[in-house]
Amino acid sequence: MIRNATSILGTASILIVGLAFNGGCDRSVQFPVANRPPATPPDQLTQVSIINALMLGQYDGVIPLTSLLGYGDFGLGTCDHLDGELIVLDGAAFQVRSDGTIHRVSPEEKIPFAVVTPFQPDGKFDCPAAHSLEELDALLDKQLPGQNLFVAIRIDAQLRSIRLRSVPRQEPPYSPLADVAKTQTTWTRNDVEGTLIGIRSPPWVTSLNVPGYHWHFLSTDRRVGGHVIDCQIKTGQVSYDTCDSWLIKLSESAEFQQENLSRNLNKELEEVERSRGK
Ligand SMILES: [Zn+2]
Repeated sequence: MIRNATSILGTASILIVGLAFNGGCDRSVQFPVANRPPATPPDQLTQVSIINALMLGQYDGVIPLTSLLGYGDFGLGTCDHLDGELIVLDGAAFQVRSDGTIHRVSPEEKIPFAVVTPFQPDGKFDCPAAHSLEELDALLDKQLPGQNLFVAIRIDAQLRSIRLRSVPRQEPPYSPLADVAKTQTTWTRNDVEGTLIGIRSPPWVTSLNVPGYHWHFLSTDRRVGGHVIDCQIKTGQVSYDTCDSWLIKLSESAEFQQENLSRNLNKELEEVERSRGK
């Protein structure tokens, strides 16, 4: 495996295949590793690295963007050296830097943490008006399927306001994410139209991913984006895709191998992800 470290096959993988959600019909298919088809199963969520590695400052990219996009056309994450917020929407990847500027990500750029899926909606509904992100999450919980599968959520919306953040590029030796988050930049925009890119992870993913909702945003004109801290939605359309398979691409870097990744970082993660900013 080490010899192949630069190829997509050079990263170790964990594949968890669950039962399909709807109607008890099992849509998941398991393939022997050698025969795995090149196409990603439609309801597979693929993530790069684990959240605890990111929390502990592992910001070097693991797989190139071009490989990541082979696993999905919709999702979120961060860029090499923690250089901003990553958005994958309709197969295109955007980086929101800490100054709020938005750039296309080059295919060769290596991604240290991301979550993507081939987005094929299982259902759609009108987005209820929401006065806060907290309210939006609660309203979605009433309409989305049960909490023990991953759900990718796309909301094309008219927003009264949105509060966003991004984080500045880091250089080694890296500081933990909880420290870097204190230097995050936040900004608010009013009357924006765009897409909320959400992943709702089950509550039991602790230490591997972010339990609950994780939202990024990109405006229709591609001028406003970032990790969503808060928002007020006027109207919108929700489409969602439940994922019953979960593939994790692990890093083979020395840092990843040597770190104690089993530490309980729940409190720090809560602060980093839910921080309302100053
Ligand atoms: Zn984020």
